[in-house]
Amino acid sequence: MSADFQIHGDVAVITLKNPPVNGLGLETRRAVVAGIAQAVADASVKAVIITGHGKAFSGGADVREFGSTKAFQEPNLLSVISCVENCSKPVVAAMHSVVMGGGLELAMGCHYRICAPDTSISMPEVKLGLIPGAGGTQRMPRALGVEPALNMIVSGESIKSEMLSMLPGQKLFDQMALSPQSLMDEALAFAREVADLRPLPKVRDLPCKHPQGDAYFQFARNMVKGMAKHFPAPPKCVDVVEMATKKKFDEGMLFEREQFINLMWTPESRALRHLFGAQRAASKIADVPSDTPVREIHSVAVIGAGTMGGGIAMNFLNAGIAVKLLETKQQALDRGLATITQNYQARVNKGTLKANKMAERMALLSTTLLYEDISQADLVIEAVFEDMGVKEAVFKQLDAVMKQGAILASNTSTLDLNTIAHFTQRPQDVVGLHFFSPANVMKLLEVVRGQDTAKDVLATAMNVAKTIKKIAVVSGVCDGFIGNRMIDQYARQAGFLLDEGCTPEQVDRAMEQFGWAMGPFRMSDLAGNDIGWAIRKRQYSENPKRRYSKTADLLCEQGRFGQKTGAGWYDYKPGKREAIPNKDVEAMLAKHREALGIKARKISDEEIVQRLNLALVNEAAHILQEGVASKASDIDMVYISGYGFPMHRGGPMNYADELGLFNVVQAMQRFATNPHDDAEFWQPAPLLAQLAAEGKTFN
Ligand code: NAD
Repeated sequence: MSADFQIHGDVAVITLKNPPVNGLGLETRRAVVAGIAQAVADASVKAVIITGHGKAFSGGADVREFGSTKAFQEPNLLSVISCVENCSKPVVAAMHSVVMGGGLELAMGCHYRICAPDTSISMPEVKLGLIPGAGGTQRMPRALGVEPALNMIVSGESIKSEMLSMLPGQKLFDQMALSPQSLMDEALAFAREVADLRPLPKVRDLPCKHPQGDAYFQFARNMVKGMAKHFPAPPKCVDVVEMATKKKFDEGMLFEREQFINLMWTPESRALRHLFGAQRAASKIADVPSDTPVREIHSVAVIGAGTMGGGIAMNFLNAGIAVKLLETKQQALDRGLATITQNYQARVNKGTLKANKMAERMALLSTTLLYEDISQADLVIEAVFEDMGVKEAVFKQLDAVMKQGAILASNTSTLDLNTIAHFTQRPQDVVGLHFFSPANVMKLLEVVRGQDTAKDVLATAMNVAKTIKKIAVVSGVCDGFIGNRMIDQYARQAGFLLDEGCTPEQVDRAMEQFGWAMGPFRMSDLAGNDIGWAIRKRQYSENPKRRYSKTADLLCEQGRFGQKTGAGWYDYKPGKREAIPNKDVEAMLAKHREALGIKARKISDEEIVQRLNLALVNEAAHILQEGVASKASDIDMVYISGYGFPMHRGGPMNYADELGLFNVVQAMQRFATNPHDDAEFWQPAPLLAQLAAEGKTFN
């Protein structure tokens, strides 16, 4: 049974008990229905209370039932709510801590609601590409008022119970409890007070009108259209709430059901539900059990106060963890410190950070030129120049001074972490923490697992990531790890497209229309074209046969490094980010084509989109097969949280699954016949070929 049934004198109490958040899974739903039946059958019971055990009233649907038919099995949530609403004895919801989605719908099916202060109330379905599907869209506007209800449904954000209780005319709460501790006593007293009152009030019977109906909903539609470019659910939220104001309750319910089921089948909702699961799965590592002991991290040292070191330090300061920054020269320390101060000051000026918070954070920061000063840090993160010689010197010194058990991390993006680990006598304590720039902003953290990295070090790194609010994905050691190794193939395709006749704007436009936050050339201008230039030089020296378009090198030879030099693939006006096409770049491309003997051809947006995205997919399939990534969903998380891949496509692997792997392989075989592309690269990775042949998917 996933709910308790107890009798307190003349009141029955049904307590949802399905840890961690009392999700409304099949067993719990059955238990509620059984509890109501038992209460009705017992003549001594005059009223019923429904509440939740532990740290939630209810978090809504049980995520473990996602994608299975169990969620729809009777009694489904609609039937449970109907059973509660039609109960012949008053049912009181005693709400506390967290009331989400289906949990809130259940509470609104009760006759009365009493709520503890500081309870988080939300309807988060829109975040999964859905609308509330068990009457939430019809009861919420009646209980709370049309506008606040629509705001909650369309945003999915949670709001504290005190705030909602202050809304004029709200009927969501009949009473606010004095404290979470007194909730049950107050609920029992309340239940006894209303025990004999008839008729039983029902939210469905409340009036639902908006004084400026049509105008208001038109306004709401316009607002939502701007917000939710690629997602169908938010406009549907407006439609269903409007229906609540225009039709009878039962008609509104039918409309809600129809829209809910339609949304369930949209690729956008599938993508969001996939990502929801992917994010949870990313923190789980197959051979590192969740009860692996972790090391305590109370202090952090960062070596190198440059672009990355400063941003990395800010993550820990934001989380209230003391940081010591180490550099070789005072000047470099001063520069690093000034940048951190400026970053915080900019937020204070904008009003997104309080001045006293900035002071608190800065007080946790100290600097040094001496390794002895950092020896007691629990975690040290190296972010010095990307040069093996420099890394060697740093790690030998760390090995000499750091206390036993300290974790030694490197932020290297391209160097071999195993080599770095073996500069020390404790390779088991070495791990990669690959932050993305700007490190204080970007969500993604690749946790790089070396061949010797100890399990508890890995578990601690994942824990640290959670503390500093990053999305951590484990990557094995290889050139570029998961994200950059894939983007390299994507950038190579973008280059070939220029050779064959595209302009940078055509490629960027096609990718942005597909949904990427930025096309490859605008992205490169932002990151700095010189970074890729340096990487290509190294790659070329290691493998002179490697094919790539020379256009990006030609661009860099002209000093067009991107936004920072005011000129890259595009021109930029000082202080502005608008990308302005440049005639000289176009002429350079034309000249280059001529030198190669290529006649420019017209290339469709579809070809651009497929070549770039499928280049990611094929490389990812190799990465998966080699075990560098342990699951396809991890690769999707990397691309969604670190590279601006469109969320509504669910990541490159989900995109490939949606296309169908058979079709993906067909497209690759087509690309392989293009004489200006790289036929060898387009051989489908064996794992991909196998999955396609078996009619399977990555995820
Ligand atoms: P940077 O040049 O901005 O900063 C490096 C800093 O290290 C400088 O301040 C330098 O004075 C200091 N330094 C050099 N040698 C040192 C030593 N022996 N001891 C102490 N300090 C020393 O470089 P960055 O962009 O911050 O990159 C740092 C590391 O982060 C590199 O390994 C790089 O590959 C990696 N990384 C960079 C990015 C990025 O986008 N910039 C992203 C991810 C990872």
